[in-house]
Amino acid sequence: MILPGKTIGVLGGGQLGRMFAHAAERLGYRVHIYEPEANGPAGEVSALETNRPYTDVDALTTFARSVDVVTYEFENIPAEPLWKIENLVPLHPLSSVLEICQNRMREKTWLRKNGFPHVAFAEVEAADDLASAIRRIGLPCVVKTADFGYDGKGQIKVSDDASLAKAVASFAKQRCVIEKFIDFKCELSVLVARSSTGEVKVFPVAENIHTKHILDFSIVPARLSEAVRVDAEKLALAIVEKLNVVGLLAIEMFLTDRGEILVNELAPRPHNSGHWTLDACVTSQFEQHVRAVCGLPLGDVSVVAPVVMVNILGDAWKWSDGKLVGEANWSAILSEPRAKLHLYGKKEPRIGRKMGHFTVTAPTADAALEAARVIKARL
Ligand code: AMP
Repeated sequence: MILPGKTIGVLGGGQLGRMFAHAAERLGYRVHIYEPEANGPAGEVSALETNRPYTDVDALTTFARSVDVVTYEFENIPAEPLWKIENLVPLHPLSSVLEICQNRMREKTWLRKNGFPHVAFAEVEAADDLASAIRRIGLPCVVKTADFGYDGKGQIKVSDDASLAKAVASFAKQRCVIEKFIDFKCELSVLVARSSTGEVKVFPVAENIHTKHILDFSIVPARLSEAVRVDAEKLALAIVEKLNVVGLLAIEMFLTDRGEILVNELAPRPHNSGHWTLDACVTSQFEQHVRAVCGLPLGDVSVVAPVVMVNILGDAWKWSDGKLVGEANWSAILSEPRAKLHLYGKKEPRIGRKMGHFTVTAPTADAALEAARVIKARL
């Protein structure tokens, strides 16, 4: 057990690292952020920060020697330098987990090999003819690069000749996966924590609404039948064990009209769709991640009140002809007594950039969603 007072190293310095640092420091840990860019959201709230590239093995070694355990808040970290860290200090989740989850082809192949339900896909090697592979799968489909994908980056929906040409122009000569386009009933995510002691806890399922491939609303409790909820939770438990994760694992899923659950993505870290836990769960996802990687007993995951989380993108600021001309209307959130504002301290708002989020609680999930939509419209 790594007790409070010890130092937790975190690779990545974005908003997930910032909220993790808040939770860790409240429990009495010191947090050391390793992040290539200076002045990020996590560094400014942590005891220590190193700004060096992920490929700088000497800097990573010094960092690893200065901390008691290492975790990460960002997936696109080269796995090789992590092998080095793993020999010096416990790394949770293991680099083998990161290697699977950071590459869509490896992730999907792992799901298929282990018999977990997933969106059917075809693999396209860099040298393959992307256009003929797309035609073989049939339209509509979604072409995704194997590496470096998140928030819809590195993916294009192909539904006609024009979008096919766009996908070929963007992704030819890259390793890709092609998926059938799923006309899902809704999107779900399940966060599951597994401690270094083997204890496991599943957070209540969230129902997610994406806009332009970016998470817009998370609704808890998800408006689902009991049977689907139980299936989603069982699937999450089976995946976290099989993948041998210590820490948090977020599993994004599609629910089809036929009631089938298909896994879309795995993320071995705190997740945007778990931010609601900060204001409406006995234990936040960030505290649970601290507990899991330090081997503490896991916290209670009961929902305190129905809640909706809404992402705040740079779009909420006032823009004119592409120029920033004013603040968002923060009073829309601050004047609502049941709403909670979270801003990540990012200096520069940009269209599509995640700047913060807000949550609103209400007696029912539908009422919370209605209140969230009203606030978002006023923002
Ligand atoms: P991803 O980067 O794979 O998580 O995709 C981001 C979002 O794009 C998902 O949350 C879905 O809303 C949408 N999406 C991704 N893949 C598919 C698919 N095969 N069919 C339909 N929508 C998809």
